[in-house]
Amino acid sequence: MSSHVDFVIIGQGLAGTALAWRLLRCGRSVLVADRARGGSSHLAAGLITPVTGKRLAKSWRWDELYPEAVAFYREIEADTGTTFFHQRPALRIYGSEAERDECVRRSTSLLRGLVRPDASVRDDWFLAPLGAFEMGAARLDVPRYLDASREHLRAAGAYLAAEIEPRGIELTATGVRIPSLSVEARVVIFCRGFDADADPWFGAIKFNAAKGEILTVRIPGLAEERVVHRGIWLAPVGIEVFRVGSTYTWDPLDSRPTAEARAEIESRLREFLRLPYEVIDHQAAVRPVIDAGFPVIGRHPHVPQLAYFNGLGSKGSLLAPFFANQLAAHLCGEGGIEEKVNVSRFLVHPQPPGG
Ligand SMILES: Cc1cc2nc3c(=O)[nH]c(=O)nc-3n(C[C@H](O)[C@H](O)[C@H](O)COP(=O)(O)OP(=O)(O)OC[C@H]3O[C@@H](n4cnc5c(N)ncnc54)[C@H](O)[C@@H]3O)c2cc1C
Repeated sequence: MSSHVDFVIIGQGLAGTALAWRLLRCGRSVLVADRARGGSSHLAAGLITPVTGKRLAKSWRWDELYPEAVAFYREIEADTGTTFFHQRPALRIYGSEAERDECVRRSTSLLRGLVRPDASVRDDWFLAPLGAFEMGAARLDVPRYLDASREHLRAAGAYLAAEIEPRGIELTATGVRIPSLSVEARVVIFCRGFDADADPWFGAIKFNAAKGEILTVRIPGLAEERVVHRGIWLAPVGIEVFRVGSTYTWDPLDSRPTAEARAEIESRLREFLRLPYEVIDHQAAVRPVIDAGFPVIGRHPHVPQLAYFNGLGSKGSLLAPFFANQLAAHLCGEGGIEEKVNVSRFLVHPQPPGG
């Protein structure tokens, strides 16, 4: 005897978790299955910043995405009785006079209300001869958010620690059947992040995935509460404990920490940190980048009972709530998918398996 749900979600990273909450809000029944290992969300620093890159660009669609992310995470905090979303200014140390001039100029135009060009920096902690600017920012404690969500789903009978073999999914006249779980559903949504094993339906989508590594360090005497950026970032996570990262490499795409990445992070950290530190952990994961880092969502163009939510790149914390909302509304028959992020774009010549 199979049980029936409206939606099965494969993967409980940032994508699958936000989508599960949104679908539950629409009053639909959901089952989330996650193989409980791997994935990039467990490593994500959860940083959300309005200004990115050397050229001080405003983050893509910040004015729409950020308010939605704040409202979403606050709502889930209230529902789960857990605190994991921290809105706090972040500090960015100027790397050059040109950068400082640009920040001052943009603070009255493109970045008005988002940056304060003359922030204070403790010069016994940090090397910042040109000063720093402060930006309104946030940090999602990703493991805590995912754990609280998982417990909520589990209590509602909507979570299973299980691996779903995509090739084992059977298409039926009204939806799908997953024999290994004895479950039938109207739609299965693939929220699998980066996975080297291509599945038969969405496997044609090409990743530009990027491996990233992060150190955890203890810095005796450092009590900075803001995330500090200077090429890399230093994020407080406990008393005198910080995470610092991250690197970008493209080969090999695995989750093994490397001596090269550790050396790179440490050398960049020493460029602005005056205090001695001790490395206490080192981890790596692969960011699911597709295209230029924009999300990819929607139903399969030929197999509408299969859908996709991926491509969150290096900004899953900011992007997931907005695009989970768009996809959930679409799956519930209440809206379309924007062309730019529509998965159909990436499956130009697809054929149904066997077709
Ligand atoms: C070093 C590093 C630093 C980062 N820092 C930030 C940051 O500061 N801010 C930010 O917003 N983002 C950051 N990111 C990016 C962020 O991690 C991603 O955007 C996000 O985690 C992607 O989420 P996802 O749910 O798409 O994928 P994943 O987190 O990879 O989740 C996919 C899940 O699906 C499961 N799964 C896959 N296949 C199956 C199957 N067949 N059956 C069952 N389960 C399956 C996996 O086990 C996994 O749990 C960082 C990433 C890295 C690597």
